[in-house]
Amino acid sequence: MAAAANNGGEGGDGFDVIVVGAGIMGSCAAYAASTRGGARVLLLERFDLLHHRGSSHGESRTIRATYPQAHYPPMVRLAARLWDDAQRDAGYRVLTPTPHLDMGPRADPALRASIVNGAATEVASDAASDAAAPWPWSGVFRLPEGWTAATSEIGGVMKATKAVAMFQSLAAKNGAVVRDRTEVVGIAKQGDGSIVVKTSSGEEFHGAKCIITVGAWASKLVRSVAGVDLPVQPLHTLICYWRARPGREHELTPESGFPTFASYGDPDRRDWCATGDALVEPVARWIDEVMPGHVDTAGGPVIRQPCMYSMTPDEDFIIDFVGGELGKDVVVGAGFSGHGFKMGPAVGRILAEMALDGEARTAAEAGVELRHFRIGRFEDNPEGNLAENKVKN
Ligand SMILES: Cc1cc2nc3c(=O)[nH]c(=O)nc-3n(C[C@H](O)[C@H](O)[C@H](O)COP(=O)(O)OP(=O)(O)OC[C@H]3O[C@@H](n4cnc5c(N)ncnc54)[C@H](O)[C@@H]3O)c2cc1C
Repeated sequence: MAAAANNGGEGGDGFDVIVVGAGIMGSCAAYAASTRGGARVLLLERFDLLHHRGSSHGESRTIRATYPQAHYPPMVRLAARLWDDAQRDAGYRVLTPTPHLDMGPRADPALRASIVNGAATEVASDAASDAAAPWPWSGVFRLPEGWTAATSEIGGVMKATKAVAMFQSLAAKNGAVVRDRTEVVGIAKQGDGSIVVKTSSGEEFHGAKCIITVGAWASKLVRSVAGVDLPVQPLHTLICYWRARPGREHELTPESGFPTFASYGDPDRRDWCATGDALVEPVARWIDEVMPGHVDTAGGPVIRQPCMYSMTPDEDFIIDFVGGELGKDVVVGAGFSGHGFKMGPAVGRILAEMALDGEARTAAEAGVELRHFRIGRFEDNPEGNLAENKVKN
């Protein structure tokens, strides 16, 4: 896939946009830019394409529109449409649609807000409640006392690595140049207003605009090229895969209508220290309590795959012009805080439009409010949108 790049320097008049970082966000941004007739697009990746050191690799990510914050469902709905378009363009699927189920303590403010924002329907109460009656998947989930469950239409599982490969292939098919093993160390504006991108091997690429999508490396790169501080904290975590108990396998598949699901608790009691192996035991306990008899937890997960979150203090994304000397010519998408994959195609479209047009028309049309994702929210307030995001009863 890595094609030789005309570096856009002497003899060439450069790329229209250079995308730095080929995880899901950069690959989607390169694809979105490449769909603009005639746009010359370059996608640069530091490691091998589809490597396992960032945030976008592996077998699965889920999609849902149930969010405690009202600003995400419009972006999820836009993304769902763009996932369909890309799969149609590719001729194969990376997203298997399913229903989605949210469950948790009935009065939990985040769960209540997610039900409203995601247009979910409450279907079940805990077994002790008078209202308890058979509901879809009542044979699998046993809700603890005081819990409720709600279903919603947008759900599904994405094959993560396959999805990233799909967007890279689609971009290349549209003429984008995709280069891996190319570490960007400099991004600067030249006297004529164009952007020069420098690599650790001394190569230079020239472009009119640049998009930075370097995941957990965002703070480091943006500080060094623009002197701008992004509060993005890398967090090592695990994806765990568990074995279904013999005889239960077919009940737990998308083909049998099994949903993706999320479980809510008290967000103020969440322990971000429980990462890596430390999160295995609480998850096993949850499975044994809420899905009794369905999953073999005794031997632990059958696969543990390391991955990285890029956390912002308020867990909201950063999607903005970098500013400073780079002004509106360089756009950054970062801090996806463990929940960005599903929105990759929407984020990619937004970043591409911001870079090429100076504004994200598609986002505005889809009702996506970008003010929540501005870098400026951290000026004079290190917590950003945290107060706004705390859901009240
Ligand atoms: C365990 C886990 C489970 C998750 N589950 C879900 C889920 O179910 N649903 C969901 O929506 N989201 C989920 N997420 C979050 C989602 O996967 C991430 O938000 C998303 O993958 C972030 O993508 P990215 O492109 O920003 O970062 P990355 O995938 O890390 O991509 C950044 C790329 O930039 C490259 N790079 C870095 N520096 C340079 C440089 N100087 N020059 C060139 N290239 C560079 C890196 O090598 C990397 O390839 C999960 C994440 C994890 C870790």
